[in-house]
Amino acid sequence: MTATGPASLPPEPDAGSDDGRELLCDQLAAVGLDVVRAGLVVGSGGNLSARLPGDDTCWVTAAGTWLDRLDRSSFVRVRIPDGTVVAGDRAPSSEVALHLATYRARPDVSAVVHLHPQTVLLLDALGERVRLVTTDHAFYVRRVGVVPYFPPGTTALATAAALAAADGTNCLVLSRHGCSVLADSVDLAHKRARNLEEAALLTYRALAAGRLSDLTDQPPPTVA
Ligand SMILES: [Zn+2]
Repeated sequence: MTATGPASLPPEPDAGSDDGRELLCDQLAAVGLDVVRAGLVVGSGGNLSARLPGDDTCWVTAAGTWLDRLDRSSFVRVRIPDGTVVAGDRAPSSEVALHLATYRARPDVSAVVHLHPQTVLLLDALGERVRLVTTDHAFYVRRVGVVPYFPPGTTALATAAALAAADGTNCLVLSRHGCSVLADSVDLAHKRARNLEEAALLTYRALAAGRLSDLTDQPPPTVA
């Protein structure tokens, strides 16, 4: 985690407004800038998507985009049931199947943030789970699911991640690869992703200090 706070986001889109989809893309672009600054992904790794609630299409980052250089032309509109590209003149992210399978499995989800957060991945490589240390971690992350390794971009990975999220888990570690963080809004998915990496960082610091066995999870929040 860096000292840089999250970028200020555009307002939540109004599902009934004509420019709701453009607002979604603007929100995702702001998230992309922040997560790169926060070190949650490097290079052209990671991909983002969002949909208006209940829509059967989503906007997903195009293949090869750098998350800190997104604008409205960086997104491709894809039909969720079958993956047909319905708007945008670029190919969708190579990880589009992960996004589509997640939306199909979770009608409540309106944003999917897939990143390669370094501390989350270091803990995974060391065989350690992420501990939820603070009340923010407990509130935003709630629980962390782990998806076994599958090659990036494959249907097998998308299917396994959707299965792991089907019970309502919103923060998934994709082993040796990254994370997939879900929410009913772009803003909440962003907060969850930042809190997941912060929880991992504190877990790693306890591990490095030889105190991991003393680190207990916060109890789950009693208020949703
Ligand atoms: Zn990835």
